[in-house]
Amino acid sequence: MRVQLQLAPATGSFTCRYTFTLPASDTTSTIQLNLNRHFPLQRLSSPGALRRRISRTYYSFFADTMQRVEVQYAPHNHKARQLTLTYAGTLDKSTSTAQVMELSGHSNWVPFRSNQEYEIVKYTLAVRAPAAYQVRSTTPALRQRRGRWLFSGRTSNIEITALVAKQFHQVVSATAPLITVVKAGAALVRQDTALLHQAAAIIGFYNRTIGRQDSIARFTIFLPGTNRDAFGLLDNATVITYPGFDVAEREYVLILAHEISHKWWSYGSFHDYNDWLNEAFATYSSLLYLQAIGDTAGYQQEYAKRAQTTANTPAILGFDRDKYERSMYRRVVYNKGTVVLAALHARVGTEKFYALLATTAARKISTTAAFLEVVEQTAGPATRTWLQAELTR
Ligand SMILES: [Zn+2]
Repeated sequence: MRVQLQLAPATGSFTCRYTFTLPASDTTSTIQLNLNRHFPLQRLSSPGALRRRISRTYYSFFADTMQRVEVQYAPHNHKARQLTLTYAGTLDKSTSTAQVMELSGHSNWVPFRSNQEYEIVKYTLAVRAPAAYQVRSTTPALRQRRGRWLFSGRTSNIEITALVAKQFHQVVSATAPLITVVKAGAALVRQDTALLHQAAAIIGFYNRTIGRQDSIARFTIFLPGTNRDAFGLLDNATVITYPGFDVAEREYVLILAHEISHKWWSYGSFHDYNDWLNEAFATYSSLLYLQAIGDTAGYQQEYAKRAQTTANTPAILGFDRDKYERSMYRRVVYNKGTVVLAALHARVGTEKFYALLATTAARKISTTAAFLEVVEQTAGPATRTWLQAELTR
């Protein structure tokens, strides 16, 4: 994946040239890419294609209509193919302010294959911005000279990140792992330093437990100041846009711990019940952190709040969000999943439970069936049968 991005922060607009490469080993004859309908496609280059079609299609996962680019090649094609989309647009208020442009996991700025927005890609990201501006991404720049930045990495397709601002303020951890809080525009305040210390404590805890086979060596917390939500990025980073994010409050500690843990809990499908491998695991990980810092009352309160919502809910295995009202998703995938994990924890004990989570994380387990395998290997067939029953109830 090659992404060439030109930013005009004064107007919040950008132009992007996105090159998608299909390796020779992939013999798919039709490629469909979905692109945000607010970013008009200016040019499509598809050497060797037989047919190309640009249409509009409703994409239910985003509950939005998108531009669909469909390119067809001759069957039995054994050559690598390249598709380049050039498009331009202006970010809306949710992802840009007078101080910052935030192109990241929730900005919907990168085209993607249907149902594969989170596919892992190797990418290079070349960014141009006016000389008065700075650009940040989840990795340090490989090269940087006046107005040009080059980044490269491996992450979920739609999580490729570029933040641009006239000024970034940052605070960095004094000891390993290397943790950086990066804030766009406004100067750092006391809460931002507290955030750094809390993140260091959370990452330290995770590196000893769930992440001990695949630990975090570097982590970035972005504070773009856009005022919307918080989300974890696979590439050792999180974006927090809530104003007044203060880890003196338990609610924010939980959000931070949840989002950091998505570094490990992001491999389940986001499109079906396997999302419990992401969301219930992240939620329970954040509760485990409360327990670890001795906030037992907080743990019990937060656990009970979630458990209460799980009465008379459908089973996790096979749960189909389209068959229920919106709120059921959180009750089943997040909350019921958390209850099941707590029950598994109680059944196998802390030592085995952490061993199990660490293995699940290190193997980047992406299906419930594969998780049940890990459970069987770690805790025996009876526990597997028990868990299967819990997930079916
Ligand atoms: Zn989450």
